[in-house]
Amino acid sequence: MIARTHDLAAITGLTIVVIVLSPLPPLSLATILVALLANQLGGIAPDIDQPTAPFWRNLPIGGLFGRMVGRMLGGHRFLTHSLLGLWLVGFLFHTLLLFLQPIMPHVEIEYVWWAFMIGMVSHLIMDSFTKEGVPWLLPLPIKFGFPPVRKLRITTGKFGEKYILFPLLALVLIGICCLYYPDLVDLFHRRITE
Ligand SMILES: [Zn+2]
Repeated sequence: MIARTHDLAAITGLTIVVIVLSPLPPLSLATILVALLANQLGGIAPDIDQPTAPFWRNLPIGGLFGRMVGRMLGGHRFLTHSLLGLWLVGFLFHTLLLFLQPIMPHVEIEYVWWAFMIGMVSHLIMDSFTKEGVPWLLPLPIKFGFPPVRKLRITTGKFGEKYILFPLLALVLIGICCLYYPDLVDLFHRRITE
C-alpha cells in the first residue's frame, strides 16, 4: 500500500473507533491535535522496515538509515507487520510518551497512545488486502491476506488501490463525518462549555 492510502485508513479507523466509543470523556484540544498526529505516524510506522518509505525519504541520508533499520527488523513486511511487532512498537511508543509527558502537561497520553495504535493496526489490515500479505503471527513464518485467494487481492500502487480502495475509504470517512457530525463536534464542544 502507498503512504497516502495508509494515512487515509488511519484517520478513518480512528474516526470509526471514536464514534463506536462515543460519547468519550471531554478531551483537551492539545490531546486531540497530538492524537491526530500520532494516528498518522502510527499509520505509516510499520513501513520503517522499508528504505524507500516516505518517512526515510524525507530525512537527510534517510535512505542509509532506512536500509540499516530495515535489515535490523528482518526486511520489509516482517517484524513491524506482525502482532509481536505491534506489541513491541506499542511498548516503545508508550515509554516515549511517558518521557515526553512533562513537556506536554495538557496532553492526555493514553488517548494519544490509542490513536497511534489504531493507526498501526489499520496499516496491517490494509496491507492484508495486498498480494504480498502480512505475517500477523510471527514467529510463525506465514503471510496472511484477505481474501485468502492471492489472485483476488490488490497490487500496491495499482488500479485496485488507487481507484477502488482509496475512493472507498474516502467515501466511508466522509459518510461517517456527515452521519455522526454531532458526536464529533461534541468532542470539542463539551470541553469548551464546561
Ligand atoms: Zn506496510
